[in-house]
Amino acid sequence: MAKIVFESVTKTFPVRGRGRKNGRGGEGEFTALDSVDLEIGPGEFMVVVGPSGCGKSTLLDLLGGLTRPTGGRVLLDGAPVTGPGLDRGTVFQQYALLPWRTALGNVAFGLEATGVPRRHRAAKAREFLGLVGLTGFEDRHPHELSGGMRQRVAIARALAYDPDVLLMDEPFAALDAQTRESLQDELRRIWQRTGKTVVFITHGIEEAVYLGQRVAVLTSRPGRVKEVVPVSFGDRGAGATGEDLRSSPEFARHRHEVWTLLHDEVARAQRLEKEEAAA
Ligand code: ADP
Ligand code: MG
Repeated sequence: MAKIVFESVTKTFPVRGRGRKNGRGGEGEFTALDSVDLEIGPGEFMVVVGPSGCGKSTLLDLLGGLTRPTGGRVLLDGAPVTGPGLDRGTVFQQYALLPWRTALGNVAFGLEATGVPRRHRAAKAREFLGLVGLTGFEDRHPHELSGGMRQRVAIARALAYDPDVLLMDEPFAALDAQTRESLQDELRRIWQRTGKTVVFITHGIEEAVYLGQRVAVLTSRPGRVKEVVPVSFGDRGAGATGEDLRSSPEFARHRHEVWTLLHDEVARAQRLEKEEAAA
């Protein structure tokens, strides 16, 4: 059975005044997602790409149970998502860490909502900080950590209470290229080790192809699934390094395929924006 199913999922938002012309909603509403169908298997690494404003975060919010679909259904293990839950861990672009807590305290915080007894929390938090390469940084506060380190803490926090599904909304977008690439490698390693189902949002084509087993390309708004591209190249299960993979001909081919799909959508989105500004 599929782990996650989006079944004809539509999401509209009410807007003041008349409906936005190109959102294709009725009077006073804006259609962010329009009849999205997507199935994600257990343990799969699914990447979703699409132009800015096409509804990627909305899609993830629906899966996270932060918002409800206007039409259709979002199923997790066959049951409709009705709200947030500890079976899903989320990592956002902005480091949503508590500034007054240490790295260890932030990871332990995620465990407070679970049944982990207080005396076991620190050890577990330590273990997960180790998993993301932050052993020795347990006592630092967020302002004493680099951007990459903060995102590692956020990942450790999301993993610590052992959710089945990891939801990631452009988690590496604010990082410099080198840090981003090393975190991509770590995320792949963690995914391989833990077998989590990952839904990863990005607008980066390289990132999408490097990380995803499949890449779902969304249309510009309203978001629909334009195409799902299966990505397979090299023997990346067997410890091939990032550079080898990124410079392989298969990688270039997949990147071009996703680029072409996305390029048309970005152009369309820009056209819509111009028309709107002129109206
Ligand atoms: P993305 O993450 O792909 O950039 P979002 O999912 O954040 O896009 O947003 C999709 C569209 O829905 C955008 O046009 C955005 O302005 C609109 N939108 C998102 N959330 C709301 C909301 N709560 N109310 C009204 N409009 C919203
Ligand atoms: Mg977004």
